[in-house]
Amino acid sequence: MSEHLGKQGIGHLVLERDRVAERWRSWRWDSLVANGPAWHDRFPGSEFDCPPEAFAGKEEVADYLAAHAEKVGAPIRTGVEVTKVRKHEGRPGFHVETSDGTIDAHFVVSATGAFQKPIIPALVPESAGFAQLHSSDYHNPGQLPEGAVLVIGAGSSGVQIADELNRSGKQVYLAVGPHDRPPRSYRGRDFCWWLGVLGLWDAVTPPAGAEHVTIAVSGAHGGHTVDFRQLADEGVTLVGRANEFDGTRMRFGTDLKANIDGGDANYLGMLDAADEYIERNGLDLPEEPAAREIIADPACVSAPILELDLAAAGVTTILWAVGFGNDYDWLQVDAFDEGGNPQHQRGVSSEPGVYFLGLPWLSRRGSSFIWGVWHDAKYLADQIAIQRAYAEYRPPA
Ligand SMILES: Cc1cc2nc3c(=O)[nH]c(=O)nc-3n(C[C@H](O)[C@H](O)[C@H](O)COP(=O)(O)OP(=O)(O)OC[C@H]3O[C@@H](n4cnc5c(N)ncnc54)[C@H](O)[C@@H]3O)c2cc1C
Repeated sequence: MSEHLGKQGIGHLVLERDRVAERWRSWRWDSLVANGPAWHDRFPGSEFDCPPEAFAGKEEVADYLAAHAEKVGAPIRTGVEVTKVRKHEGRPGFHVETSDGTIDAHFVVSATGAFQKPIIPALVPESAGFAQLHSSDYHNPGQLPEGAVLVIGAGSSGVQIADELNRSGKQVYLAVGPHDRPPRSYRGRDFCWWLGVLGLWDAVTPPAGAEHVTIAVSGAHGGHTVDFRQLADEGVTLVGRANEFDGTRMRFGTDLKANIDGGDANYLGMLDAADEYIERNGLDLPEEPAAREIIADPACVSAPILELDLAAAGVTTILWAVGFGNDYDWLQVDAFDEGGNPQHQRGVSSEPGVYFLGLPWLSRRGSSFIWGVWHDAKYLADQIAIQRAYAEYRPPA
């Protein structure tokens, strides 16, 4: 946002309560690497130091963001929390209260991210005696107590954490909901490239019922396709969605097989779309028939566990990888719907002068990813420039 405002010559200030890229530094597990290769998950004007096909580590991503901020001369004040934003009464602009004084602003861009408040559903009471943590507090297997782990949520975070815990020798149960699981690469091209040429990053409508589609992808170990059956073959016990806890036993949905099959359909659908694209455009990309081989259902899928006495199964930790919620208590303006969700069109909110950036599906599927944010920010800087021009307009005397 700062880069684009700077290019438009619009004076601005960026307030960050922690450090630049704090969430990449402290809200991600130690071994996390970017989901997309370095050539893709980046801003157009800055490249990563690593090879373009590599998956940057989380510290490399944070350093990259900090270096980009310096490169574009972003006027950032770190360690400053915004505590309240209110519309001025009887005049344009906003009154901004911060941990370091107040500020008058003509425009406010809320760029507090898509992943603001870790969600831990109230399913298992603290008194049940399990260690419970959110994926954003997970750093490495050594941090967890001895014993088995139930990982709930099998998007990119849950599936990678379950894999890491399993490789570390822990017994792991993984509750799998509906998901997409695109091939990491197909016929020599990464899935980021395929989503791009097939126009899927630009999809504007979220799939029904999905605010943020769970896409199970991984750049770990050089990047590989997420394959739940293979995870099971390697020792992870797959279960359906965790639905109920009665004080001792967790009940899982009967949806495991349907979720795995749905993931396969998404996977195979992308191979079909890629083949069709290659055919229509006469591209010379190597055939990859092995990509269509699906391994047999493991026992945990064909005869799933529907109920598990957690303590008897040795589970000591429940790790929630079910995503994040909003935290907009500080933004006290008319920009939210009845459910408290941002009300906007492509980031232009229903409160004139307030803009949102970085939200899932802000303008399209790519909107909550590093490269997608850049394009949305460009659009919003244009909108702010347009509004400034109206505000500054004075008819000839
Ligand atoms: C586990 C995980 C892995 C991901 N991997 C990738 C990936 O590989 N590639 C990719 O493109 N994207 C990835 N993402 C998405 C990633 O979060 C975004 O791409 C990008 O980093 C979001 O940037 P942001 O600035 O919008 O939000 P954030 O990085 O969340 O930054 C928001 C900032 O706002 C600050 N803030 C919040 N409230 C206030 C306040 N009131 N006052 C002052 N400051 C405040 C926070 O401290 C924070 O630093 C991943 C997300 C997660 C959760």
